[in-house]
This record gives sequence, structure tokens and C-alpha cells, in this order.
Amino acid sequence: MQSHRVSLVAGLGLAVLLLSGCATAAPGSTHRPAASASSSAAPSSAPSPTPTPPPPSFNKSALSIDDPNSIWVVVNKLRPLRPANYAPAVVLPSEPHIAQPASSSMRPEAAAALQQMFAAGAAAGAGAMQIQNAYRSYAVQVNTHNSQVARLGQAKADILSARPGYSEHQTGLAVDVAALPSKCDIEACFGQTPQGVWLAANAYRFGFVLRYPADKQAVTGYVFEPWHFRYVGIPLATEMHNTGVTTLEEFFGLPAAPNYAP
Ligand SMILES: [Zn+2]
Repeated sequence: MQSHRVSLVAGLGLAVLLLSGCATAAPGSTHRPAASASSSAAPSSAPSPTPTPPPPSFNKSALSIDDPNSIWVVVNKLRPLRPANYAPAVVLPSEPHIAQPASSSMRPEAAAALQQMFAAGAAAGAGAMQIQNAYRSYAVQVNTHNSQVARLGQAKADILSARPGYSEHQTGLAVDVAALPSKCDIEACFGQTPQGVWLAANAYRFGFVLRYPADKQAVTGYVFEPWHFRYVGIPLATEMHNTGVTTLEEFFGLPAAPNYAP
């Protein structure tokens, strides 16, 4: 039931997005005025100048960036999930290469896209990939973060792991990808593996964005994570790719989130 509702919400969101794209094109397009002109105007009248329709603009308000059920939700150190213990309906992808099944579930639409992406990467010669980590619940994040705080102190723990309620992994839309055979797992050098190179160039085609780019720590609050991909759907990922905007914060005009609020 829950999973149907989530899928429905995401599906409706996508439908709204697609419909809004059509809606912006239709009123400005030349087809309707031309059709009505041909039916009502005298044949001898000069044709009216054909207005050039404006390029279809991307509707940045099509989906919510606040609702945790939205595939556009933006989570960072200044934007915790609300509620903090939000728990999506998730499924374990039917992907043979899963490192830790207990933490590899994803929301159904993200899981399906990931499977397509892995298959396309392998077909393109980038090599095999596996899920290193995907959905982590609030409770798991509490344990992870508390143990890091106890071991290292708050400041260092905040660098290594997100506070509970602030992790993109809790959305069920984020995934840490690893190469198979294992190489540079959860390390910056993953970006130089064939898998990392292919993902950086192609993930958008499957609706994923490289969420923490190398030069954007001041914006995202996280160092370069070439393994961490976030599902946002193909329309948004493609728009970000085409416009060259690499962070969700900059795309949606949100404040930079280098640190937690004091
Ligand atoms: Zn991650």
C-alpha cells in the first residue's frame, strides 16, 4: 500500500512535469492560431506573421523540493528531512551485485533506474558495478553517527557521517556505487575507474546526478564523492546536465550548506 502510494506520487509528479512542458508549448505554438485563422479568415487576407514560439522552459516548481516523498527533495546540512524519521517504501533492486543487502534497498523508481544504468554501463564496456550502500533508515543513522561521535567527537563525526535526519541515504534515492571487482570503494580514486568515469558522464541519462562534485564542498557540505549518486528523475538530471549546473542547491537557488546550523 505504502509503496503504491509513493509510486503514485512520483508518477503523478512526473506526469505533472511532462504535462507542464506540453502546456507551456501549446498556447504559444503557432498551430492553434493558424488553424483558427484558416477556418475564419478570408483566403485573400495576408498571412499573419508567424511568431516564434519561446523555447520550452524547464518548470523548477513542477515537483516539491521539501516533501520527502518527492524525487526532487533537497536534503543537506541546512535542510533536514521533515519529519526527521521519514521512512520511504523501499525495495531491494533485483541486481545481482549487491555488497550489503541490509543497506541496499531503494525506492522502486530509483531501483529500476539503477538496474538500467548498471546494465548500460556494462554494455558500454565500463565494467560491472555493485551497490555498496543505498537506503539507511533513521535508526541506522542514529547508531552510525552516535558511534562516530563517541569515538571521534562531534566535529570529526560530522565530517565522516551525516547526522540522523540529514542523510540523503534516508530518502531511498541515493546510492553509493562500487566497481566490480572492487577498486577504490568509497574513495576519491573511484572517479578514475572506468565505472566512475562512465557514471560521471552518463548517470544523468538514467535520472541520477553526481551529488557531491569535486569543487562544491562549500555548497553541498561534502567533499568529492564520485561514488554517490542521487536519483532525481531524467527530466531534472538532463536539465542540470544541459545547463551545466552541478548541484541541486545552485539549480534551485538554495543557500549553500557547508555546515549544520549552529
Ligand atoms: Zn553516499
